[in-house]
Amino acid sequence: MNRKKEISVLLIYTGGTIGMVNDPVTGSLVPVDFEHISDQVPELKKFGYNIRSVSFNPVSDSSNIDPEMWIKMATVIEDHVADYDGFVVLHGTDTMAYSASALSFMLENLQKSVIFTGSQLPIGVLRTDGKENLITAIEIAASQDNGRPMVPEVCIYFDNKLMRGNRTTKISAEHFDAFDSPNYPPLAEVGLHIRFNNKFINFPDPHRDMIVHKIFNNNIAVLKLFPGLNSNFVKATVNTPGLKALIIESFGSGNAPTYSWFTEELKGFIARGGLILNITQCHGGSVEMGLYETSREMLRAGVLSGKDITSEASVTKLMNLLGRYNDTDKIISSISVSMAGEMS
Ligand code: ASP
Repeated sequence: MNRKKEISVLLIYTGGTIGMVNDPVTGSLVPVDFEHISDQVPELKKFGYNIRSVSFNPVSDSSNIDPEMWIKMATVIEDHVADYDGFVVLHGTDTMAYSASALSFMLENLQKSVIFTGSQLPIGVLRTDGKENLITAIEIAASQDNGRPMVPEVCIYFDNKLMRGNRTTKISAEHFDAFDSPNYPPLAEVGLHIRFNNKFINFPDPHRDMIVHKIFNNNIAVLKLFPGLNSNFVKATVNTPGLKALIIESFGSGNAPTYSWFTEELKGFIARGGLILNITQCHGGSVEMGLYETSREMLRAGVLSGKDITSEASVTKLMNLLGRYNDTDKIISSISVSMAGEMS
């Protein structure tokens, strides 16, 4: 019998505003169980897909998400990758860009859609953005072309835009349009139709199996530059016990002060085996080391260019690379190339 296989989607509920209610004692928003979400969205039953769910226990506000939970998310996907056509991860918006980035580096050669979504207003609130986000995220995770997923990538779907997860950043604590992908076009735009931008979507080699990289090393720090930076603070940062890598959020196209004490601290850290990655604190655009004298000094000191990577992707990429390899040269060569479409 030539019967079309029923499309299946697994929802992974980790927490976040989408499933929150007000705590009767404190009045603060706290996450509650998945039943609460499914009760609010009876539309889920109308899809005609086989939709199943697993829930983290306990569920979290995403400020409490950490590498252990990324490993948990990746393990759920790994364990069920053969059983489902796509995955939707319900997650708080605050650190969603970090989690989507982390998963993109963990799930090498991913062959299915993994769509993160959540909401700015809880799903039980009349004006919630959660219903539309959830329903469309499911539809995207289930979308296929000739039996292959339309978007076999880790993405964020939010407010009518599907974005590559490791290109996103949270831009608003107020608007429904909470995420942006400043350096990469949306993978799909949603209006009356879902329009996929196929030429921007990465398709893996279908003959290679997925590999899951589950070790993270969090011996990293992020140093955001500002005028008047205190030398004691920089000294303390680069001398943090065990620190292996430092991300510098520099000015504009990768510029930093040329004070000799600053350059000497960076050089000292690199001489002790540390890695330094230069990313821009601008919302969009790229580091171009050497364009100005103020970045040439860092280039001479051995600082690496993060090009147009986001802060979220740089943090998770470095933690993942430090977990994968002990060899500093291997890490250096991997930092500068795109592993999951995170840099141009
Ligand atoms: N604090 C919440 C969280 O990230 C915010 C949200 O979900 O929008 O879990």
